[in-house]
Amino acid sequence: MNTLLKNSISENVKNIEISGIRKFYNKVALYPGAISLTLGQPDFNVPEKIKIAMIKAIEQNKTTYTQNAGILELRREISNYLENLNIFYDPEEICITVGGSEALMDTFTALINPGDKVLIPTPAYPAYESCVSILGGTVINHNLKEDFSINFDELKKILENEKPKMIVLSYPSNPTGAVLSEEDNKKLFNLLCKHDIIVVSDEMYACLCFKENYYSIAQYEKIRNKVILIGGFSKMFSMTGLRVGYVCAHPSIMDEIMKVHQYNVSCAPSVAQWGAYEGLVNCMEDVIYMKDQFIKRRDYVYTKLKSLGFDTNLPEGAFYIFPSIKTFSMRSEEFCEKLLKEAGVAIVPGSAFGSGGEGHVRISYAYSMNKLKLCMEKLDNWINSF
Ligand code: PLP
Repeated sequence: MNTLLKNSISENVKNIEISGIRKFYNKVALYPGAISLTLGQPDFNVPEKIKIAMIKAIEQNKTTYTQNAGILELRREISNYLENLNIFYDPEEICITVGGSEALMDTFTALINPGDKVLIPTPAYPAYESCVSILGGTVINHNLKEDFSINFDELKKILENEKPKMIVLSYPSNPTGAVLSEEDNKKLFNLLCKHDIIVVSDEMYACLCFKENYYSIAQYEKIRNKVILIGGFSKMFSMTGLRVGYVCAHPSIMDEIMKVHQYNVSCAPSVAQWGAYEGLVNCMEDVIYMKDQFIKRRDYVYTKLKSLGFDTNLPEGAFYIFPSIKTFSMRSEEFCEKLLKEAGVAIVPGSAFGSGGEGHVRISYAYSMNKLKLCMEKLDNWINSF
């Protein structure tokens, strides 16, 4: 790159890398015939009723800007949906965004001053660290335990010593599939009550919790003023490309998030908002169907990995499994490179999810059972060839 152009780039942007997930996904194209289990994109079509609702919205010319916060009908339905999870936000406390991604970036932009400390678990969804770094914030990591639950001793020390401005929680987790237990939710609440800290809870996969009861820090009325909830429909209705998410916050924070959102995108796509609305009103059975399929796939991949000798946790939500590869004496990047080159299977190195992800790989089971079976057979043969 010529010097003028090189010097023009923001230092904060220059210093971050494109997502390791995408990097591996892009590599698959270089190996004809290779199969990818890299993306967090369900293989189901968007429910038929959502398609019809969006076609109708176009025919009715609902193609103009909506309110900045999004259509009231959808915000009301989100409020009802969250109520079923014991999370209470009024429609006025909800802003519809361009996917969960915009909700995250708007939230961080509204709150972070350069140098502000943000506490992020590792391993975690890579966007948290990158967004914070772009904004000049300082990332502090806390390591999760072997089973990917919270290490409260470490968390307590960091909160006391570093006094971060913000903590990010991410359950059900991408990449580990861990969910928040009732006990950990209570412990978190007790701990966070004692600190002046803003909590960003990314619950993108709330609809894909495989346990009967759902726990979230946003369920505690006492700290609701300092909790910001992120959600969305990309995974829920298998509509990743339609780009509808949301952020919920106390009005005093929401007013600031709204400024960022307004100058950033004005509003989320109108037609897709009507699609998400239809989804919440009439497509919850489709969500249950998809969740059942994910559980079947999870069980298959988990059992197969165990039989191949992998040390792995049973995921309790989302559609990822994060087995350890420590017995292979390879770094996760090398493991994935070799698996791709030699067996034609693409998965994501754990290092893409931060330092705490090293020694693991992420397999997405948002792919068809046929693909999963083929990949597991290839993995089996590859391991046996050592
Ligand atoms: N949060 C988590 C944990 C995710 O895994 C993702 C996407 O994979 C997002 C947020 C972003 O969601 P969206 O695709 O709706 O922008």
